[in-house]
Amino acid sequence: MSQAVACINAGSSSIKFALFMLGKDGVEPAGAGKIEGIGTAPHLIAREPDGRISTERRWPQGAALSHEALFGDLLGWMREHLTGQEVIGIGHRVVHGGTHFFAPAIVDDALLEALDALSPLAPLHQPHNLAAIRAIRAVAPDLPQVACFDTAFHHGHADLATRFALPRALHDEGVRRYGFHGLSYDYVSRRLRELDPGLAAGRVIAAHLGNGASLCAMLAGTSVDSSMGFTALEGLMMGTRCGTLDPGVILYLLQQKGVSAAEVEDLLYHRSGLLGVSGISGDMRDLLASADPHAREAIDLFTWRIAREAGALVSTLGGLDGIVFTAGIGENAPQVRALVCERLAWLGIELDHAANRGHAPLINTSASRVAVRVIPTDEERMIALHMINLLLPTREEVA
Ligand code: ADP
Repeated sequence: MSQAVACINAGSSSIKFALFMLGKDGVEPAGAGKIEGIGTAPHLIAREPDGRISTERRWPQGAALSHEALFGDLLGWMREHLTGQEVIGIGHRVVHGGTHFFAPAIVDDALLEALDALSPLAPLHQPHNLAAIRAIRAVAPDLPQVACFDTAFHHGHADLATRFALPRALHDEGVRRYGFHGLSYDYVSRRLRELDPGLAAGRVIAAHLGNGASLCAMLAGTSVDSSMGFTALEGLMMGTRCGTLDPGVILYLLQQKGVSAAEVEDLLYHRSGLLGVSGISGDMRDLLASADPHAREAIDLFTWRIAREAGALVSTLGGLDGIVFTAGIGENAPQVRALVCERLAWLGIELDHAANRGHAPLINTSASRVAVRVIPTDEERMIALHMINLLLPTREEVA
């Protein structure tokens, strides 16, 4: 019987999943999908690797669907879809591994308890990641589950890159910079090594620009700095998150305007970023299609902030050999890539506009002093690779 693994990325209102079969030389996609509208009108859609819809299911509006029921259904579907294959484990994206968990780990009671304690550091993600693990344990207690951490790729940061200028005691209790989107950067770093080993050995900024957005400074493929720190709020402007903000603004809201902590949280995570500045949408596609000057201003601020943060990371790296764009906006929005590169022209970046518009993998001119690449990310595949290397240690490591 051949073997397969499933990967889950569980958020507050949606769950992404992907199946992979183990082949001789690595993993082969065997289908992927998403459940959206959890808590309102759940809708599951799964596709074959060629994009054809393999299954679609809707639950009634307001269906009181427990996590256990949902994952019970999902596991049932996966097993049906993978008839004749043994599912050897389920891997999860877990946003926060804190200071102790920096390698993929098999889930047990002690790990779950330790990860629960980190939930306040990632309130929008961690509880949902852990709820998915618990729900699967309830319906399939013998199925091994593996937690893969978004903070792990940044674990080797030098002490300076992890510090806020706050009293030491706070740092020691975990109030420090961690960095996120690590599974995405890990994947991009490995792909870059395959595609362009010379560049991968150099100084590279990877830009994960999705609904969440961050930059990662990589030296010889290893993360040395990140625009994101303690929570997924720091750094770049995002779809609905503010990015770096003068902490005095929060004091002003709390002390002068009497805004509650919960309202501040909602403001910073859900009502800021592209949505807050444009007043139209947090979705880049809507803003690019809009003629409203506020949409244009939001895009300008988004790219200005990327260039500004990139300048800081160039300083950490001591120069720059390449930029890699990834995730929804990075992979699909040539206008945004062009605006960012224009702002970074002082570094010697010269974009090949036709290649950029044509979504080529390499989009700089031959005269450019800095390489500019687009690498589609694949966090689910990264989870699958980590999981296989952990669960099947005697097998030759897959990359
Ligand atoms: P998530 O962080 O939820 O995984 P994604 O990586 O899917 O997010 O990125 C979502 C963002 O990508 C949205 O702002 C969306 O508008 C943007 N995006 C997706 N496709 C395109 C496109 N063709 N052109 C411009 N932006 C796009």
